Amino acid sequence: MADDFKRDGSHLAFCPPVEKWDDWVEYDPEQWPRRVQKHYQLVPTICFNCESACGLLAYVDKATGEVAKFEGNPRHPASRGRLCAKGPATINQIHDPDRILYPMKRGGPRGSGQWVRTSWNEVLETIGGRMRKAFQEKRGQEIMYHVGRPGHDFIMDRTLRAWGIDGHNSHTNVCSSSARLGYLLWHYADRPSPDHANARFILLLSAHLESGHYFNPHAQRIIEGKMAGAKLAVVDPRLSNTASMADYWLPSYPGTEAALLLAMAKVILDENRYDAEFVKNWTNWEALEVDGFCAHGQTFSAAIDALRRHYSKFTPEFAEKESGVKAEMVVKIAREIAAAGSRFASHLWRGSSSGNLGGWQTARALTLLHVLTGSVGTPGGHNLNAWNKFVPTPFKVPPPQKHWNELLFPPEWPLATYELSPVLPHLLKERRGRLDIYFTRVFNPVWTYPDGFSWIEMLRDEQKVGLHAALTPTWSETAWFADYVLPMGFSSERHDLMSQESYAGKWIGFRQPVLRVLKERAGEKLDYTYQANPGEVWEEDEFWINLSWTVDPDGSLGIRQWFESPYRPGQKLTVDDYYRWMFENSVPGLPEAAAKEGLAPLEYMRKYGAYEVTTDVYRLNEKPIATADLAGSHIESNGMITKDGKAVGVMVNGQPVVGYNTPSRKLELFSRTMADWKWPEFALPEYYRSHVHRSAQEASVGAPSPDFDPRYMPRVEWPKDAHGDVYTLLPIFRLPNLIHTRSGNAKFLYEISHKNPLWINPVDARKLGDVRTGDLVKVHTEIGYFVLHAWVTEGLAPGVVACSHHLGRWRVNENDQLERMSSAWVDLKQVAKGQWKMRQLSSVEPYASRDADTNRVWWSDAGVHQNLTFPVHPDPISGMHCWHQLVRVERASSDDRYGDVFVDTNLSFAVYQRWKTLTRPAPGPGGLRRPLWIPRAVRPDDSAFYTKSDE
Ligand code: SF4
Repeated sequence: MADDFKRDGSHLAFCPPVEKWDDWVEYDPEQWPRRVQKHYQLVPTICFNCESACGLLAYVDKATGEVAKFEGNPRHPASRGRLCAKGPATINQIHDPDRILYPMKRGGPRGSGQWVRTSWNEVLETIGGRMRKAFQEKRGQEIMYHVGRPGHDFIMDRTLRAWGIDGHNSHTNVCSSSARLGYLLWHYADRPSPDHANARFILLLSAHLESGHYFNPHAQRIIEGKMAGAKLAVVDPRLSNTASMADYWLPSYPGTEAALLLAMAKVILDENRYDAEFVKNWTNWEALEVDGFCAHGQTFSAAIDALRRHYSKFTPEFAEKESGVKAEMVVKIAREIAAAGSRFASHLWRGSSSGNLGGWQTARALTLLHVLTGSVGTPGGHNLNAWNKFVPTPFKVPPPQKHWNELLFPPEWPLATYELSPVLPHLLKERRGRLDIYFTRVFNPVWTYPDGFSWIEMLRDEQKVGLHAALTPTWSETAWFADYVLPMGFSSERHDLMSQESYAGKWIGFRQPVLRVLKERAGEKLDYTYQANPGEVWEEDEFWINLSWTVDPDGSLGIRQWFESPYRPGQKLTVDDYYRWMFENSVPGLPEAAAKEGLAPLEYMRKYGAYEVTTDVYRLNEKPIATADLAGSHIESNGMITKDGKAVGVMVNGQPVVGYNTPSRKLELFSRTMADWKWPEFALPEYYRSHVHRSAQEASVGAPSPDFDPRYMPRVEWPKDAHGDVYTLLPIFRLPNLIHTRSGNAKFLYEISHKNPLWINPVDARKLGDVRTGDLVKVHTEIGYFVLHAWVTEGLAPGVVACSHHLGRWRVNENDQLERMSSAWVDLKQVAKGQWKMRQLSSVEPYASRDADTNRVWWSDAGVHQNLTFPVHPDPISGMHCWHQLVRVERASSDDRYGDVFVDTNLSFAVYQRWKTLTRPAPGPGGLRRPLWIPRAVRPDDSAFYTKSDE
């Protein structure tokens, strides 16, 4: 392909070679059949449409100076030139005729939709002045930064630390924090990095070939593994596209996956198919205490026998009863996994973990299979995210803050993996604090979170939120209730440094504002990125630097020093300074690689957009401790090596090695942490029943069965008018080509997907009165209802219904030019205190804009917003919002209309209170708020971990 059309200098090729990036020639497709050449300059950047951080190449038309399209960057080691549909759709985002181009400030009451254009200077002065006052009055804890889609490693941590506040909030507790807890209890790393390409057997508890975490880089490697002979099994209640590609589909009942996995573990243990040497050397089996057995002083085989006894209840038949997956299939998959041995890879991200109460046990049970097969840290196995992700350290890092913010980590959830952000409106309702300045960044909780009306109530209340600045590349339901809407750039309009654990290697990718890069290459001098971007779209890095200077202009607050150039003392840090310093000093091998090409490291990264740091990433736990580091250390009786009171390694086979970052420096089969923090029954990987278990369904409408355990399971209380049969709703599956808020006006994407009907099995459709595809059904939750079309399909088990969360955007004003390609115009009313009604007045229609395609919009559906009707379900241990819902489904009545939503936030507060009673609050041992060894975002100083620090 690359040589096609060479006669006249043009090319048709997959991934143009780097040497042609300055003048890439293609024919203009719109001129066909005439052969009219187009000349492009290609600039690498990083996709911002999911967390994978694939490499993009921006094709900048030399004639117009505009970005004409985006394709893949072949020099990016993770994505290797390939993209999913969302990568090229970046072009729709940057040319969206409805996008926000200038900073806006509200000109009427909050939520009234009255906006006036303002300047960046006014924004900095107003917000910076208010922050300065807060710091001077020692109210820094009233400042909070809340991120939806992250996408910059460390600069935000640096900024918050420089401000000295515990103010980092994130979306992770509606996303992935449950699985993270399951993983980190084993090995500290809170995410897996499966080496799919080298695996012999791959087990996915997700729709990972089509969507999910790092799915484009992973999907390539899963297919590579399959082409080399690996078999693929998929556990998913839904027949996803991924399941349809699998060798085995295991349609488990939602929330029972841990039972399935523990039954597989039992088969492996009972049939002696486990890797005894690995388990003996690399788990803390000597700490095992279970069912009256204490391993201390006992043999390894006695400990294995104790494990066998403990897991004896997880027979394949028990797994079949719980999950619906046949016992023979459980045995078959267990044997396949054992046969793959150290080349067994798996992935679990959201799905089962994010949907279910106790979903973190799924990740823990899955990791048990890796431990038993010795497939941790091996080629083709389960690696640790920390081993495959590279975050360079910048210059002069501010010290950790000495405060603990209980609006982020309330005492009820001491083991929460991330901030309790889904319950923030309820924490404020309980008067646990107030927000004087609230920054939201690429964050749309009104739409993406459960219980969005509680968010609206919070955001409208100026007593609770003094000033809300929404940093966002696109309009959103949340931005509507802000005081400032601050336009930030998409993939090709800002800087970031990205790295993800997408394969067996470590890499960094450089997101950069391509038009600024080209202008500067041409010799133009720009002070700020918004001078090159469309309108006055800015970027976060420069915003935070300049805001921090405005807050502390003379340096007297001690903040400004962290935003001064490492090259020009006392002068303001620039983005070039920031990244240049890291590329020159913190990325091993990069300066040498750049020098080989006669480039400075920053020039190298601007040219290629990515750099592979290393592929030496296997078995890093076995790394010897350097002799110099051993000086002054002490070997404990259990083999642990300590220095200055901290564990730094462990003796294995007589050798001092670094081990894992856990308290035992080994994989924690037995978690002393769980035992010490009031959950001794979960010291080992276990299964306990989800809030959507069949017994919970029964308990919601009748007498509970013995399977319903009220110590762990909250009982659903239906609103008075909820009717219909009880089902489990799966509300979290992704549509492969949509993003949450950011795909709003991406025409390539919405043309493909614009409906989210309710999946119903034909058996249930008949029970509901012969419901047919397209009929209206009403779905009742614990706090309200929504109305949508049915889609009758055998791709889902009876008793379960499903609806994708990617659709249902809305706008409250008809004529505001907001996301018109994807949103319905709605009548939104508060009909009584806490009672909200939404009705669609009109849906998507063609419209005139500077993009002629908006007149060609042919679809007329924006979907239905289900998340509004979900109460928060904070898992009592991980803190994760447990997304699955028990619902009652009935045919819609003649009063109901498509898209109707009703919610009572009084009920949502009551559900929050019920779930809170399941927690076992801090303090833990020694008056700790949280175990010191468990990671925490923007970790405070150790002193802040103790409750007494506030006294
Ligand atoms: S997987 Fe798709 S959306 Fe995600 S970064 Fe890659 S190209 Fe972008």
